[in-house]
Amino acid sequence: MEPQRSPLLEVRGNIQLKRPPVKAPSRLPLPGTRFKRGPDQMEDALEPEKKRTRGLDTVTKIATSRPRAPALTTVAQTQGQTTAPKVPKKTGPRCSTAVATVLKNQKPGPAAPAQKPGAAAPVLGGRKPTKRPAWDLKGQLCDLNAELKCCRERTQTLDQENQQLQDQLREAQQQAKSLGAECRTLEGELARVQAQAEQGQQELGNLRARVLELEEQLGTQQGLVQELQKEQLGLQEERRGLAARLEEQERRLQASEAALSGSQAEVASLRQEATTQAALLVEQGERLHGLEMERRRLHNQLQELKGNIRVFCRVRPVLPGEPTPPPGFLLFPSGPGGPSDPPTRLSLSRSDERRGGPPPPPPRHDFSFDRVFPPGSGQDEVFEEIAMLVQSALDGYPVCIFAYGQTGSGKTFTMEGGPGGDPQVEGLIPRALRHLFSVAQELGSQGWTYSFVASYVEIYNETVRDLLATGTRKGQGGECEIRRAGPGSEELTVTNARYVPVSCEKEVEALLHLAHQNRAVARTAQNERSSRSHSVFQLQISGEHAGRGLQCGAPLSLVDLAGSERLDPGLTLGPGERERLRETQAINSSLSTLGLVIMALSNKESHVPYRNSKLTYLLQNSLGGSAKMLMFVNISPLEENVSESLNSLRFASKVNQCVIGTAQANRK
Ligand code: ADP
Ligand code: MG
Repeated sequence: MEPQRSPLLEVRGNIQLKRPPVKAPSRLPLPGTRFKRGPDQMEDALEPEKKRTRGLDTVTKIATSRPRAPALTTVAQTQGQTTAPKVPKKTGPRCSTAVATVLKNQKPGPAAPAQKPGAAAPVLGGRKPTKRPAWDLKGQLCDLNAELKCCRERTQTLDQENQQLQDQLREAQQQAKSLGAECRTLEGELARVQAQAEQGQQELGNLRARVLELEEQLGTQQGLVQELQKEQLGLQEERRGLAARLEEQERRLQASEAALSGSQAEVASLRQEATTQAALLVEQGERLHGLEMERRRLHNQLQELKGNIRVFCRVRPVLPGEPTPPPGFLLFPSGPGGPSDPPTRLSLSRSDERRGGPPPPPPRHDFSFDRVFPPGSGQDEVFEEIAMLVQSALDGYPVCIFAYGQTGSGKTFTMEGGPGGDPQVEGLIPRALRHLFSVAQELGSQGWTYSFVASYVEIYNETVRDLLATGTRKGQGGECEIRRAGPGSEELTVTNARYVPVSCEKEVEALLHLAHQNRAVARTAQNERSSRSHSVFQLQISGEHAGRGLQCGAPLSLVDLAGSERLDPGLTLGPGERERLRETQAINSSLSTLGLVIMALSNKESHVPYRNSKLTYLLQNSLGGSAKMLMFVNISPLEENVSESLNSLRFASKVNQCVIGTAQANRK
C-alpha cells in the first residue's frame, strides 16, 4: 500500500501536476486557474519567484523612495520581454514608448550594471537621452510628472493585482478548507474501507478455512462415490444373477403351472375319492366300534371261561444263604399238553411224612391252579398272564388281584417288584399301570378318553392308614375310615386318604416311592409292620366315548395281603407275643373273612359278610358278581416253611374251587 501522504503534500503535487508552469515574468494567475492550496502554501509556492525577483523588490523600494528611471530599467530587464506588451496598454503613451524604447535598445543578455539615477531620464522620455540642462527645470519637472504619473499607474496596476491575488488567496483558502473537510471525509472513508478490508480479510480467512473444509468433504465424498460405484457394480452383477434366476424361476413357474393344472384335475378326482373314502371311513368306524364292542364281549367271555376267580401259584426262588430244599420237595408236573404247556400243577411232599413211612413212598400233596409259576419265572412272564385282566378293567369290569402267602414268600416282590428299581424285577402294579396308560391311548384313537385316580392304603389291626399321606400326616394311622361316597352310592371312599389323579408311569413311580417311605416311617415304630398289614393299591378307571355317549368305569385293586402264617401254638406268651397274637388274630380273621366272602359269593348266598373285616368291606365293589378276581398264592421253596406252604395252598385251592357268577361290565 502506498504510504499515506499528507493532504497538503497531495494538494501541492496536484498543483504542480495540473498547473502549467508560471511564466517568470507574470506572477498573476491565468484567467480561470483555480488555486488548490492554502495561503501559506501559496506563499511557499511563490517563494522561488520572490527569490528571483528580490532584486526587483529592492529596486522597487528604491524606486518608490526615489522614483528614478534607472529602477524601471532594472524591472524591465528582470521581467523579460514577454511582459513588455502588457505594460504599455495600462501606461500612458509616453511611458510605454519610453519603455519600449529602452527594451528595443537593450540587448538580451546579462543584466546591465546599475546605472546612476540621473542616467534613467533619457529612457523615460522615449527619446534619445538627452541631458536637460540644469536650468531646464520645467523640463525636468515635466519629466518628473511623467514619471510620477507612470508610477501612479503602476501602483494602481499593482493594487489591482494585489486585490486579485487576495481574492485568489481567499478562494484558495476556501478550497483548502473544503479540501480539508474532503480529506477528513476521505480519512473516515479510508478507515471504514480499512475496517471493511480487515473484515474482508477475516472473511477471506474464514472462507479459506471453509474452502479447506469443503475440499476435505469433497475428498470424503469422492471416496464415498468411488465406494458406491464399486457397490453399484457389485449390485449390478447381483442384479444380473437375480434376473437370470428370475428367468429360471419363471420358467419353472410356467412348468409348475402346467403341472398344477394337471394336478387340479387330479385333486378333483382325489377329492371325489376322498369323499368316498370318508364315507367308507365312517362306515369303517362304525364297524370298528362294533368290532371293539364285540372284542370286549368276547374278551369277557374268554375271561369268564377262564374263571372269574382265578388262582395262580408262584414259588419264589431259594435266596442266597438259604438251605437248598431236598430233591423232590417241590415238583411241577407237566400239563396234559406235555412240557410245552404252561404248568398248572404243583406237588409237595412233607419231609417228616417222607422219612416217617418205611418202604411206602412219602405222601404227596398235589395242587392244581389256573397257572403255576416255578421259581425261575420272571416278572414279565407273570404279568403276561394278568395283562388280559387289566384289559378287562379298561372295558369296565372291576378287577381285584391279591397276593396271598406267608411272610417272606414273595408277595411284595410280585406286587411292587424287587429292590433297586431294576426294570427287570418291576412288579405288577407299575407294569399294570403302564399297560393301562398305553391301551387307553390306543383306545383314544377310537374316541375313548380315560382318566385314572390312584389311592394306596394300609390296613393294620383293622385300622386304615393312608400310604400317600404327606406332610404332618406322614406315618400317622387310625385316622381313615371307609365310607360310602354319598347317600345311596355304591362307591366307597376312604376318608382322609389322598386320591391322586395319574396319567403316566412317572407319577405312579412317585406314588409307590412315597408309600415305601411311609411304610419305612411306620416300621421304626413297629418292627416289620408291613408284613403284618394289608396294602391296598386302588385305581379308579373312568372311560368315556363322547361321540356315542358311552361311559364305563371300574376299580382295579392290587392287594399285598399280610403274612398268612399262624402263631406257633407252643410259644409262651410274653407281652410282645400277646401283641403279636392280637395282630395275627386280626390278620387271620380278615383273611378267613376274605375266604368266607369268596365262598358266599360262589355259593350265591344272600348274605355276603363284607363287613366282617375292613379289607373285604373296602374291596366289596371289586369282589361282587361282575368282578374278576385273581389270587396269587406265594410259596416259599424252603422245606422249613412246608407247613405254612401247605396251609396257603389249601386256602388257595378252596378259593380256586369257587366260581363267581357271570361278570357284568359296569356300563351306563
Ligand atoms: P413277602 O412280601 O411275602 O413278605 P417279599 O416279597 O418281601 O416277601 O420277599 C422276600 C424276599 O424274597 C425278598 O428279598 C425278595 O426280594 C425275595 N424274592 C421274593 N420273590 C422273589 C422272586 N420271584 N425272585 C427273586 N427274589 C424273590
Ligand atoms: Mg411283603
